[in-house]
Amino acid sequence: MKKKIVLLGATGSIGTSALEVINEHKDKFEIVLASAHSQFKKLIKIGREFQIPNLALTNSNIPKGKSVVAENFIRGNADTLQFLDEIDYDIMLNAIVGSAGLVYTVKGLKSEKTVALANKESLVMSGELINYIIKNNDSKLIPVDSEHSAILQCLMGTARSTEIRRIILTASGGAFRDWKKEDFPKITLADTLVHPTWDMGNKITVDSATMANKGLEVIEAHYLFQLPYDKIETVIHPQSIIHSLVEFIDGSLLSQLSYPDMKIPIQLALSYPQRLPATADFTDVQTLSALTFTPVDYEKYPMLEMAYEVGRTGGSMPTVFNAANEAAVDLFLHEKISFTEIPKIVEKLIQTENIKQPDLKTILATDKKIKKKVYTDYS
Ligand code: NAD
Ligand code: MG
Repeated sequence: MKKKIVLLGATGSIGTSALEVINEHKDKFEIVLASAHSQFKKLIKIGREFQIPNLALTNSNIPKGKSVVAENFIRGNADTLQFLDEIDYDIMLNAIVGSAGLVYTVKGLKSEKTVALANKESLVMSGELINYIIKNNDSKLIPVDSEHSAILQCLMGTARSTEIRRIILTASGGAFRDWKKEDFPKITLADTLVHPTWDMGNKITVDSATMANKGLEVIEAHYLFQLPYDKIETVIHPQSIIHSLVEFIDGSLLSQLSYPDMKIPIQLALSYPQRLPATADFTDVQTLSALTFTPVDYEKYPMLEMAYEVGRTGGSMPTVFNAANEAAVDLFLHEKISFTEIPKIVEKLIQTENIKQPDLKTILATDKKIKKKVYTDYS
């Protein structure tokens, strides 16, 4: 029996890698619904190539083209969410970027599906609520993020979390790893959009350069592995070969290694706990001459320190952090603000009042409010 996949964000970087994985394993997976936000033509092409019966264009402002090939063509987030109740599927691969992914993660988990999660923003905004849903439903959350996939793999076979001393998330250090902090005011958008080791969407590439991405991943790890923040560390590892490490109480360190290729964690998330033959290139260990590590310079990357702070505070604060960052990154991508303004804006916004144990409605309202404030004050 083939596993039925809902692929959200099919036109993006993760979506594209997921399509490559599914194409290699057509006997194992079939896509029953694919979504894109605005790239209508690309979505149609994907639909045709993979013979997908249901396609969704989540941005309802995009004019409808003519050559629709799908049995059902859904428009807008509300209709897409509703449509998910009407179809049969096994796994939702959430590769939407940003806070827009949250409602889908919640929908998949509440519907007792397996959610393969690339959309880390969901867990950052709503980790407590998501863990509550998983506890009370027969649903599963499998990380797609390479660091979290590495940790999941290192923990296969570990029955007791008390055996974990700490986890160490590796970070490439992003585009400005070798830049001095004094030179940061000179950073341009073009400088930022070149990532040294990974080829990804624009938002996460900027997040990697500020290291907000690692901050989001710290919070993601906190909720996924239910570990306190003082057991989650980060280290710069420029080669992006070791995807993260787990240290156990007996002093053993385990890690997962491979060339940086998201097809590996995506494939594992779809086949978990089984493994399938590789879609990505095998790693030639003879060529791995130097794997290096350096501590993170928090002065250079204030976003990472702020992420720990908002993570420890909990409540609505991680949502505020995420929303402020998302809006600030968007303004930077539209060249309305400079690179160094991103952490300044976020720092200012996280001074707002914290709401304890927010429900989904409050989380979504907070996201909207914070983004509006950033756009009003800075564009
Ligand atoms: P991307 O920008 O390349 O693609 C984003 C996808 O989301 C597109 O298909 C787009 O149509 C869709 N989308 C955008 N806005 C939307 C909205 N408002 N509503 C619904 N759909 C919308 O992004 P990406 O790099 O593929 O990243 C996707 C997610 O995966 C992010 O959360 C990112 O942090 C995470 N992630 C990405 C990588 C990577 O290598 N790219 C690695 C780890 C985690
Ligand atoms: Mg990652």
